[in-house]
Amino acid sequence: MRIEVLGSSSFIPTIKGSWSSFFIDLGKGDRILIDAGTRRLLGLRKDILTVSHIFITHRHPDHVMFLGALLRRMKRNNRKKPLTIFCPVNAFYHVTGFIRFYNPRGIPDFVNFETFTPGDPGYLISLSKSNTEIWAAAACHTTMTAGYGIIQGKTKVVIVPDTAPNCKPLLALAKGARALFHDTTFPTAVHSYAIAKGHSSPEGAGMDAAKAGVQTLVLIHTSRARARDEHALFDGAARYFGGEIHVGKDNATFTF
Ligand SMILES: [Zn+2]
Ligand SMILES: [Zn+2]
Repeated sequence: MRIEVLGSSSFIPTIKGSWSSFFIDLGKGDRILIDAGTRRLLGLRKDILTVSHIFITHRHPDHVMFLGALLRRMKRNNRKKPLTIFCPVNAFYHVTGFIRFYNPRGIPDFVNFETFTPGDPGYLISLSKSNTEIWAAAACHTTMTAGYGIIQGKTKVVIVPDTAPNCKPLLALAKGARALFHDTTFPTAVHSYAIAKGHSSPEGAGMDAAKAGVQTLVLIHTSRARARDEHALFDGAARYFGGEIHVGKDNATFTF
């Protein structure tokens, strides 16, 4: 699978980063999005318009802001192929509100919704062409939030933009993963404050990566920390995690 970071910033975007979204090409024509927070979804690329599923992590605007505008663009491209949007059950009202804002005539006909309550790791759906399973587990954030696991054979990648560290369901989902994309909203210097706000520091991300025994850690949802010192991101995470560490900047791509 090929994972492209469209937006990796936390809720205060910077010139270098826009709000959360990940485009994932699973192969054999299966393509999905996790989150739809960035304006970059509205570029000229056709591949983004062909995704079959969008997985929303939670209802905060930095994760859903451009969903409605994306669906409007799909409609203008005469999309007929069904699109299924998965979201935590308490995000449904907000998600449909964001969609209606850009689609005053109503939610486009090709859109279906699947709501769920994230908890212990649980199976959501299979994408048969690419032989992929999508799983979800509860993150530890300020509202009901999912982390998503993308599983292809023995390769598992977990993406969780917003969570405090040491979140049991997420650690279970991420156990032995090929890669973990983890919240790094606040600098290590304010590690405790980050936890109180339902977020992580690089230190927290490093601890989780080590506990889950993943191979690669990708630091995302990072703007505040990154704006201060990119090296501090690596150093904070590397204090606890001896594996490969990357900063998931906008436009970065990862193939697993
Ligand atoms: Zn966020
Ligand atoms: Zn959030």
